[in-house]
Amino acid sequence: MSTDFLTGLRAEARAHADLLRPGALDLDRDPGRARDPVLPWRRFAGLPAEYNPDPLRVRGRTAPLDTCVQQVVAFEELARADAAAALALPGPSMSGFVIGDLAGEAQRRRYWEVVGGEGAWTFFGMTEPSAGSGPAGMSTTLGPDGDGFRLTGTKRYIGNGARARIGVVFARRHAGPLGVVATLVDTARDGFTAVPLPTTGLRGLELSELRLAGVRLDAGDLLGRGRSATRQGMWAATRTFHRYRPVVAALALGVAQAGFDLVTGVRRNPGGPARAVLDDWRQRLLGTRALVLAAARTADHDPSDGTLASAAKLRATRLAEDVTTGAVRLLGPGANWEHPLLDKLVRDARGFEFMEGTGNIQRLTLAAGYLRGRLTDVRAA
Ligand SMILES: Cc1cc2nc3c(=O)[nH]c(=O)nc-3n(C[C@H](O)[C@H](O)[C@H](O)COP(=O)(O)OP(=O)(O)OC[C@H]3O[C@@H](n4cnc5c(N)ncnc54)[C@H](O)[C@@H]3O)c2cc1C
Repeated sequence: MSTDFLTGLRAEARAHADLLRPGALDLDRDPGRARDPVLPWRRFAGLPAEYNPDPLRVRGRTAPLDTCVQQVVAFEELARADAAAALALPGPSMSGFVIGDLAGEAQRRRYWEVVGGEGAWTFFGMTEPSAGSGPAGMSTTLGPDGDGFRLTGTKRYIGNGARARIGVVFARRHAGPLGVVATLVDTARDGFTAVPLPTTGLRGLELSELRLAGVRLDAGDLLGRGRSATRQGMWAATRTFHRYRPVVAALALGVAQAGFDLVTGVRRNPGGPARAVLDDWRQRLLGTRALVLAAARTADHDPSDGTLASAAKLRATRLAEDVTTGAVRLLGPGANWEHPLLDKLVRDARGFEFMEGTGNIQRLTLAAGYLRGRLTDVRAA
């Protein structure tokens, strides 16, 4: 993809981001406002062409946002206005990757007709209250029930869960790592309830708890049917993480950039130590942007390799925290009161640490990738 095209895409996304900025604090106060998106969301949802009558256009060409590279460029700009609003847009989000990897034709149609047709929110249900996002302790089960199944358990910290129409729930069918399967669940089914959780950062995303009280599923709801045991739930989940982590990194980068914009807007001619801090941030923003783009290129080329994705998420998350908390120090006592947007940025930046795996998990992935020699050719990525 040419640099020229990506520059045009960035400019388009920036123009759209201007629509999000004025409502950022209102959405933070009242996440319910996301139900009425101010953005033409189809342009940013990465919908398949046949379900998207209104794709983003860049210099006369369609930008379908169906690659990680296009997504990181566009979502950084949206996050520079409001990361929570970007995450709260209707669309496939993470569950779309699982559909792409595991769904049969009928399931694909069922999913995209809901998501593309009516404009629905979706969810990706992995994390659990007692087991976190690690599959080893997953306690949500998919048990047999006559000619079908029953889905039982609780998922927590699920983005857009309480407003979603359809989503993917990971559940255990057998013991062991290969016993986790992915299921396609309509939220209108009996036994499904979702409640929003009180949160501090990224409030517009409406993190939710999903309660699955024996939700009845049939064979048509099982994703990955007929595939080998090694190409089931955890395989698709891992590939999803590797492709979505660069996007999370881009969102964190957008928050860092927003913090930098805010400080430089208030302190136009900083001297001495403040200037040195801003110069350092400027360099780190540039370096992190290059790393996020390299990670996105790798994810598009080989979703089984998450090494750079982890590096990008680690670096961008740290930068977002450093810039937003550093901005409070630079602007002095009362900064959070004087600049409510800065207060929101500080809170939002913290959310990225936990989203898609903590820093320690990224370090482990990065170390494993390094030991396998996956970081030798980063410049070519
Ligand atoms: C904004 C946001 C959106 C989210 N959206 C979703 C979603 O849509 N769907 C979903 O399923 N989940 C979602 N989550 C949940 C998120 O993915 C998990 O909270 C995250 O992956 C952390 O996993 P965990 O809770 O299992 O924590 P753990 O992995 O248990 O970590 C707990 C602590 O232990 C440390 N730790 C864990 N393992 C190790 C190790 N091996 N070595 C060293 N330290 C370790 C961690 O660094 C951390 O400090 C979201 C979370 C947030 C904050």
